[in-house]
Amino acid sequence: MLERSTEPTIRRNITSPGRYHIWTVGCQMNQADSQRIQTILDELGWEETSMEQANLVILNTCSVRKAPEEKAHNQLAQLKRAKEQRDDLLVALMGCMIGNQKTIDELSKRYPHIDLFMKVEQADILPRFLEERWTPISGAGCLDVEFLPPDAEAAPTEPILPTIAAFNLPLTGKRTVLPMAITPKPGERIAHYPTHIEQAQASPTAWLPIVLGCNKVCTYCIVPYRRGRERSRPVDELVDEGRILVAKGAKELTLLGQTVEAYGLDLPEKPDLAHLMEQLSKVEGLQRIRFMTSYPRHMTEEMIAHMARLPKVCEHLNIPVQSGDDACLRRMKRGYTLDEYREKIASVRKLWPDISLSTDIIVGFCGETEEEFQHTLDLLEEIRFDVVHVAAYSVRPGTVAARWEDDVPLAEKKRRLHALEEVQARIALELNQELVGKVEEVMLEETNASHGRQQWKGRNRTNKWVFFPQPEAEGNTVRQLRPGDLVQVRIEKATSWSLQGCAVGV
Ligand code: SAM
Repeated sequence: MLERSTEPTIRRNITSPGRYHIWTVGCQMNQADSQRIQTILDELGWEETSMEQANLVILNTCSVRKAPEEKAHNQLAQLKRAKEQRDDLLVALMGCMIGNQKTIDELSKRYPHIDLFMKVEQADILPRFLEERWTPISGAGCLDVEFLPPDAEAAPTEPILPTIAAFNLPLTGKRTVLPMAITPKPGERIAHYPTHIEQAQASPTAWLPIVLGCNKVCTYCIVPYRRGRERSRPVDELVDEGRILVAKGAKELTLLGQTVEAYGLDLPEKPDLAHLMEQLSKVEGLQRIRFMTSYPRHMTEEMIAHMARLPKVCEHLNIPVQSGDDACLRRMKRGYTLDEYREKIASVRKLWPDISLSTDIIVGFCGETEEEFQHTLDLLEEIRFDVVHVAAYSVRPGTVAARWEDDVPLAEKKRRLHALEEVQARIALELNQELVGKVEEVMLEETNASHGRQQWKGRNRTNKWVFFPQPEAEGNTVRQLRPGDLVQVRIEKATSWSLQGCAVGV
């Protein structure tokens, strides 16, 4: 529950920066974005704190399903009450709830207490925004952010400027309105992403967003409307950032994109994902490279074979299929048939032995019949994915499918979801049991104490969680383990979700 800050308002002084809280929901992309924002605020001297104590609350939102969006609406309602009691609280909104100007207009009408609407590409505005809104006032009012008239001719090819909600400038009553970002036209695209990052926590794993936005138009999906079209970041910028992350302690980088193999298609030199991985592989100290999310049509055999030859690239592919039925895939406008998907999986398995596979599935999409759902269950039995992320279809206003009848009742969606999870739990257990007795390379991520003994937790190369107890000291010879270490672990036990073992090579 938000309360009145105990800090006196006099703290609003440029020599005395405030305190911030970033609230993040959604996917890995959002987590990566929040880390960038955190770096900017830390460098401005702002201190991280709880939501209740913060002077700047940033909500980094997700709209992929209804539930996370509702969470953000709840937070906004609470922040509205808090702002009614405090004049030392700024509220910023970013992430998937930010779409085009129309979305912003609707949100600012409903929530006039939002001070800043920002896309991650616009994070450069934060110092200027805070200078304006957190600087001591000379009696005359806030510093002004220059007013840029919305001009259709001046479509943003440069770093994009944000809209700052103009409703909450009690000291001056001035309105500060900047045009909202729209995705630049093809040929004018710029992936302007905050490059500088300090790792938020000392962690051996780090996210590296390589391509922003999405060019697909899956009928159920809100992402392209909120994240814009694909914009790849240049290879050199990514390699530099990789080096910085490794210097800060990262040992594993996960390359992120909505359809990650589309990387480079919009860049002049057209570097592909495997080329980028090869360049990143040269970063000294980097041990592992992962990537997600894959889209079957963009993966060429040449690309797969190239990635498979790079020792740092881990043998794991997240390749959403969404449905096991051709008619349903057509309604989803996924752009491939099941046979094409099967062929892709077959060629991946041929070119990249021992690769593990995960997928995403939506159950209860518009018009999904019992027979179509059965085809999805059949596909799980046929492909035998290691992990399946299953979601019940959730109508997303503004998408094509939102115009269709959401005709599978919620109870039926839940039944299908549980039925699918049950089948998958058995398959995953069978696959994991095949690893019992084998020795796996595990990168340590964290420890926790259970039953009085310290347990290590990490992932093997195929992205499975592995737990093992801290090795017993033999004389004075036990090595002190640390996050980021690679340890050989003999697998002794398997469940559907993880493996348990003991360290054999430390
Ligand atoms: N770009 C990726 C892809 O190929 O689909 C992932 C996009 S989305 C951020 C992650 C997952 O959310 C999707 O794979 C899909 O299973 C799920 N999803 C997207 N829209 C949904 C909706 N309207 N209802 C339920 N799940 C949805």
